[in-house]
Amino acid sequence: MKTIVNTIILKGYDLTPIKSNILISDGKIIEISDEIFEGEIIDGTGTMICPSFLNGHTHVGDSIIKDCGDGKSIEELVKPSDGLKHLALSNCDVDEIISSMRNSMLDMIKTGTTHFIDYREGGLKGIELLKKAADNLPINPIILGRDPIFYDSQAEEDEIRKITVKLLKNCDGIGLSGFSEVSDEVCGIVTEECNKRNKIPSIHVGEYFELQKRSLKEFGETEIEKSVNLNFKLLIHSTYPTDDDLNLLSENRKLVTLCPRSNGTLNLGTPPLRKFIAKKIKLWIGTDNIMLNSPNLMREMEYTLKVMRAYYKEYIDPKEILKMATVNGYETTDNLTENNSNFYSKINKTIIDEGNDAQLLITKLISKNPYLNIINRVEASDIIAIVNKDKFLYLNDKK
Ligand SMILES: [Zn+2]
Repeated sequence: MKTIVNTIILKGYDLTPIKSNILISDGKIIEISDEIFEGEIIDGTGTMICPSFLNGHTHVGDSIIKDCGDGKSIEELVKPSDGLKHLALSNCDVDEIISSMRNSMLDMIKTGTTHFIDYREGGLKGIELLKKAADNLPINPIILGRDPIFYDSQAEEDEIRKITVKLLKNCDGIGLSGFSEVSDEVCGIVTEECNKRNKIPSIHVGEYFELQKRSLKEFGETEIEKSVNLNFKLLIHSTYPTDDDLNLLSENRKLVTLCPRSNGTLNLGTPPLRKFIAKKIKLWIGTDNIMLNSPNLMREMEYTLKVMRAYYKEYIDPKEILKMATVNGYETTDNLTENNSNFYSKINKTIIDEGNDAQLLITKLISKNPYLNIINRVEASDIIAIVNKDKFLYLNDKK
């Protein structure tokens, strides 16, 4: 039992800053009040408490090939199955892959992340390696698996279904590379089997303009439209949505993970953040391939805030950006609470409130603006502790 006293707490869905004390016991937030002084008392003067981060999209499997192929096109780099990434990974030793994934997870913990949604390749074996790498760490991987059979145009439907079901017994959903590589039949099987089992069907969509244009020409609908019609729940990128796409995403209450730094690294432009916010689309933010970017969400938030302000030449509220790495997605995703309880139960308590699981960060308060404190000031060395339920880990000294 610990009480952190006299700290600034970003409370509730709206991240409302309040000065108070917070009592944590057995991995739960028991009470937030000025009156409590129970258990071990931790002086929180000069600190703030923020929900720990959720990274909405990663590929930790490529931790071993950081910055490989910089300057090459996205197709040359990551297209399955013969992109540079896949060729480079096929030459790597399994133990090295595991230890580099583990190091990436340690980097995430050091920079405030307790949850990440990972696109895991390599079928069941790939899932096993990631679980092994995460063993005993205070971090929760939410694993979206994938099998090579999804790219095999000769594969029988029954076989694809059988492998999908087997994968889903071992992970939290399926993450598909994109409509250029996977047929509509495979997508249909994946979304059907995922939705039946309260798992997450996810796919990369509209990462660059050409993909949207090509899809419209070939199928009469954009990639984003296609993903909604095929019943995917979590869409990655959506960098180039049309106005109709935005309406569809909003009406169907889809979750979208934007990866601005990845788009920047690959010279692909920037997602139209203000349009998403105007349509009240629930957004997460993700760091994407570790080959391209560090999995540090504080860097992602700072890049996003400033690039968007530069792009629009207008004010963007830093709280909106912080929500994309913390509480967004929980507020109005009844579609997930009803149909996706497995997913939701893993992540729904990162909101700081009485009765919720304790999943939070204690950082130094360097600025008077708590949102900019996290996005614009705090470095990894300013995070005093990270709490993930019953794991309370001191990372740095308060001084
Ligand atoms: Zn990706």
